[in-house]
Amino acid sequence: MADNVIWILVAGVIIGALLIHFYVWRKYHYICPKCHRPFKPTFLRSLIAVNAAEDRKLRCPNCSSTEYMKALKDEKKHAK
Ligand SMILES: [Zn+2]
Repeated sequence: MADNVIWILVAGVIIGALLIHFYVWRKYHYICPKCHRPFKPTFLRSLIAVNAAEDRKLRCPNCSSTEYMKALKDEKKHAK
């Protein structure tokens, strides 16, 4: 029984982390420092990207360079 409780907690933490990441992913985009084009990575790619504080190492879909990019909040859309 105690083992099950631990796994439920682990699953809860993972699901919680995924939900937080999904929320951030929905509201943020990135701008490539090389070609200055804004883009949104796929959810999975965003999830596995290396985290360095607010920066994520992502590959730009426009110029294909891999750079550390800062997450920027989407400001244009207010509709949910
Ligand atoms: Zn680029």
